[in-house]
Amino acid sequence: MFLSILAGIVVFGLGTLALWLCDGLRLAWHCRITRNRASSTTPLQVVIESREDYTADLFGLVLRPLGGGQLPAFQAGQYLTVNLPRAGLPPSRRCYSLAAWQTQPRHYQLGIRRVAGGGVSEHLYQFAQPGTRLEILPPRGGFTLQTSGGVKVLIGGGIGVTPLRAMLHTLLNDRDNPGSTVYLFHAVRHAEELCYHAEFIGFQNRHSRFRYRPIVSRPNASWPGETGRLNGKRIVDALDAVANAEFYLCANIEMTAMLRADLTDLGIPPDRIFSEGFGGLVPSTDDAVYQINIVGKTAFDFQGRPTLMHGLESAGIAIDSDCRAGHCGACRVIADSGDYRWLLPPSMALGEREILACCTLPLSDMTLSRV
Ligand SMILES: Cc1cc2nc3c(=O)[nH]c(=O)nc-3n(C[C@H](O)[C@H](O)[C@H](O)COP(=O)(O)OP(=O)(O)OC[C@H]3O[C@@H](n4cnc5c(N)ncnc54)[C@H](O)[C@@H]3O)c2cc1C
Repeated sequence: MFLSILAGIVVFGLGTLALWLCDGLRLAWHCRITRNRASSTTPLQVVIESREDYTADLFGLVLRPLGGGQLPAFQAGQYLTVNLPRAGLPPSRRCYSLAAWQTQPRHYQLGIRRVAGGGVSEHLYQFAQPGTRLEILPPRGGFTLQTSGGVKVLIGGGIGVTPLRAMLHTLLNDRDNPGSTVYLFHAVRHAEELCYHAEFIGFQNRHSRFRYRPIVSRPNASWPGETGRLNGKRIVDALDAVANAEFYLCANIEMTAMLRADLTDLGIPPDRIFSEGFGGLVPSTDDAVYQINIVGKTAFDFQGRPTLMHGLESAGIAIDSDCRAGHCGACRVIADSGDYRWLLPPSMALGEREILACCTLPLSDMTLSRV
């Protein structure tokens, strides 16, 4: 009798313990999922701690969380999204790469080029000052270092150097791979645009495995270094060995495509070239006016906008957008009819007749659905 009561108590106890453990695990798993979801899409409030103007168009911002503390960790090469509020409309969103890397970040650093007439960069240029609050989405993006060790060749055009600077910080901190050579090519028009020059020179003096190659295409008489335009041959000729080297490119869209094609022509396998193109979209010079019909909603005239997305926004049509560079797919619409040109290749598979508004330019009247 006593033994069966005892057995009953033990079975009940073990059962309760098992249920409690399962529930705990479920809760922990749920929290993990919730945290992950929240961490990628929940806006964060930050404050500008400092600003540095490098040239008349290039400036740096240091952000800290409102109320202090730590910011979400990220991988070098990733970007955050600035949400700029607009009265009565969804916020304007633009991505900015994190220009410095820390394991447990208390600050995010950005390097921004002001684009004349641009919705967000111009606003930040005019109004971002220490103490200004900003809403951002936490870091994300797939332009990150793919392997540890081995030769890494970082190639930046203009402000495209920002994600590469964060990668450089990671690589030079990587004590597990002390022998791996890191090259950084930074191509700019004017020497003043070498906004991290002093830091890179300092790194080169301290790390024998780091080779810094600034190249200025429109130098003034006082520039003592390399001049001209960067191309694939100049890059490959400067390397001690190309076998197994990985190439990371970031520049405006045109330069990124040109360098990628050059490197591929020189025999670098495409799967060792990683790139991110940003900026460089300009209003279309096509004078024609095309009518864009949104099925069941409205129609508007499209003329001289950089992309279909700019046209939609100017017509007051709310469209989801995040990266505005063909990476996230948020702005996909269906082109039921009409011609268009891809300005940037999409980074994901698309369904039949699906296009990305941020990457396409209408070439005729168009009918769109699912906007
Ligand atoms: C992953 C990623 C990382 C990035 N990182 C950085 C970074 O580190 N630093 C950086 O500086 N940039 C970065 N960018 C680029 C940045 O996101 C913006 O694209 C850039 O700042 C320009 O945005 P904007 O709002 O100022 O210009 P936009 O408003 O997009 O305008 C672009 C051009 O189009 C014209 N235009 C705009 N609207 C219209 C319209 N309705 N009709 C006609 N013409 C129009 C403008 O005059 C301008 O010439 C990154 C982009 C991506 C995708």
